[in-house]
Amino acid sequence: MKLREIKGVGPAVLKKLEKLSIFSIHDLLFHYPSRYVDRTRYLKIFDLKFIEDDSYHCIARIKNLKRIRLRGRRDFTTATLEDDTGYVSVAWFNNPYIVVQYSEGDEVIFSGKIVKGKVSNPKIKKVDSEDDIKQFAKIEAIYPETRGLKSYQLNQFIYFALKYLYALPEKERTKVFKEGLPKPVIKKERFISKLEALKILHFPQNLETLDDARDRLGFEEIYTILKKVEKRKKTVKTKPAHKVTVNSTAHDVLQEKLSFELTSSQQQSVQDIFADLGKQVPMHRLLNGDVGSGKTIVAASAAWQVANNGLQTIILAPTGVLAKQHYLGFKKLFDEYDIPVHLITSDTRKDIERFKTENLHDANTNDIFIGTHALLYHLEIFRKIGLLVIDEQHKFGVKQRELLGNIQKEGLTQEESHVEKVSEPKIDLASAKLPHILSMSATPIPRSLALTFFGDIDVSFLEKPEGRKKIITKVLNDETLKLKMYEWLRHEINTNKAQAYVVCPLIEDSEKLTAKSATEEFHRLQEIYPEFKIGLLHGRIKSTEKDLILQQFKDGEFQVLVSTSVIEVGIDNPNATVMLIESAEKFGLAQLHQIRGRVGRSDKQSFCFLMTSDGSYSPRLEYFASTNDGFKVAEYDLHQRGPGEVYGEVQSGLPDLKIANILDLEMIKRVKKYIK
Ligand code: ADP
Ligand code: MG
Repeated sequence: MKLREIKGVGPAVLKKLEKLSIFSIHDLLFHYPSRYVDRTRYLKIFDLKFIEDDSYHCIARIKNLKRIRLRGRRDFTTATLEDDTGYVSVAWFNNPYIVVQYSEGDEVIFSGKIVKGKVSNPKIKKVDSEDDIKQFAKIEAIYPETRGLKSYQLNQFIYFALKYLYALPEKERTKVFKEGLPKPVIKKERFISKLEALKILHFPQNLETLDDARDRLGFEEIYTILKKVEKRKKTVKTKPAHKVTVNSTAHDVLQEKLSFELTSSQQQSVQDIFADLGKQVPMHRLLNGDVGSGKTIVAASAAWQVANNGLQTIILAPTGVLAKQHYLGFKKLFDEYDIPVHLITSDTRKDIERFKTENLHDANTNDIFIGTHALLYHLEIFRKIGLLVIDEQHKFGVKQRELLGNIQKEGLTQEESHVEKVSEPKIDLASAKLPHILSMSATPIPRSLALTFFGDIDVSFLEKPEGRKKIITKVLNDETLKLKMYEWLRHEINTNKAQAYVVCPLIEDSEKLTAKSATEEFHRLQEIYPEFKIGLLHGRIKSTEKDLILQQFKDGEFQVLVSTSVIEVGIDNPNATVMLIESAEKFGLAQLHQIRGRVGRSDKQSFCFLMTSDGSYSPRLEYFASTNDGFKVAEYDLHQRGPGEVYGEVQSGLPDLKIANILDLEMIKRVKKYIK
């Protein structure tokens, strides 16, 4: 059957359906309702005093029916409805047909929201028989997106489609409408048929069977995805990678240079990575750990082994500031060995030119290159890339992820263009070998989810080092509280040598305005704290200067750093213990969590204050203040906004499910039993 064969679907309606991406009967059946109005409950008019919503039906007689025409094209109809317990006034707006269809004395069944004691725009039907009551007093599906169609129209179309399918002989029906689950699964789980589930979803008789139907359809959603992941898992890892021989003595040497011991989860992650590096298939591992959990040293441990094998490492960071921080850190670690560390950002283009002319890369093959995505556009300077580390992977744009995807599939070689330039053709061009890839991210992905939905990526998880105290977080939506906090901070700086970040919000994607607001905040704070040295950091400051400011902040040369959200990712100054966030309501929770993560990076007590610009109470911010747990923050966001928005669908690969809840671990477990 075609859509246009449905009663009431003409060319105009067909267009509207297309706007909803409904092109077939099948699409129509899978246009799910978002909620239901349950009108099964029978109430007397007296009871209406106690409710507000429209989840009921009443039976009454019409009195005083009146249509009033207002100015413009507005139209207004009122009536009194009466039963043996009392009466209630009702009003319809712009529904001139009521007076045509009904007259005083009619017995009717109705339901509608109660606004100020009156029933507003009620749904109403004449009662001529028992059947009228049955048809009215039901659970009605409400569709969220209608694009000019009415919710009940969609429901009607679906009714016709289902009727048509049920009228087909069974053999034919199963041909037109396929089951999505294998027979044994259906049997084992005692599922109703998919068509039956859809029927219930659109026309539920009661709320219990509705749960069964949702369970059936949600199960299939997850099943379909896990099947796909399983298939992907079997097809990746085709081309070979450089085999890295891991030397555990060398590993110990590096650890001894550190001022701390690796945590057990860091050790576990290092071991996971070492095992992968030793294989000839490329590693594709995600290192997932909350802000401050110590991902950098794990990457450095891997790079160290790769360098000892005479191979190169590339470390990609989303911002120049973070690349510089890594550069300094790695240099400090590796300077005494013969491992050259280079920084490549868009500001160091000169260095790239130098690499090209001096062919430095040919002399040393164990270099570590650290940079921003600028690096991705100069792949020809690399030789034998053993390892590619992508820090804060979620921060890279779509285009860069595409480039990274290519590297993952094709490797880094740009041999053709290179061969012409190189005089000695016998150089090992590292031919078609793929680099091992380590992505790092603080995006809180629950362990079970990651393992399930990134089936083709291996994941290592980091717990925070012990001894870290909870970052005390408070929402300040009141000027006097804010002033008190400023006084408290003065004391904290004077007596405890505290350092503080003050983060100003981004303004409508305008770097100029954002920089301006940060500058203003900087001057304002200078007036409040004339005795302190205050730094300023924003996107319009030259990058050499940025580096200097961050370094000075790290060295304790100033007490307060006013910044835009450029410090959001990766910046590490363990001595900073106070974070003030201005107009906190403008940030997403995940972003706030990242920003808050700039403090609490040592065993000192840290604080985070969220200032709101309008002083309003925000349950979202209060929730954020109540927990330090990145997972919980993400989960809260998930329930509010859905996985697509929280994780970014492209980046995370987390599917947007229509029925199943992505955090429903029980369901995932149940489905997994059947995936092979
Ligand atoms: P992130 O996971 O956010 O990238 P970093 O790698 O920047 O975290 O580490 C955060 C801070 O914790 C750094 O100052 C780092 O030196 C420190 N650190 C890392 N590992 C440990 C550890 N095992 N014990 C104590 N401090 C550590
Ligand atoms: Mg980091």
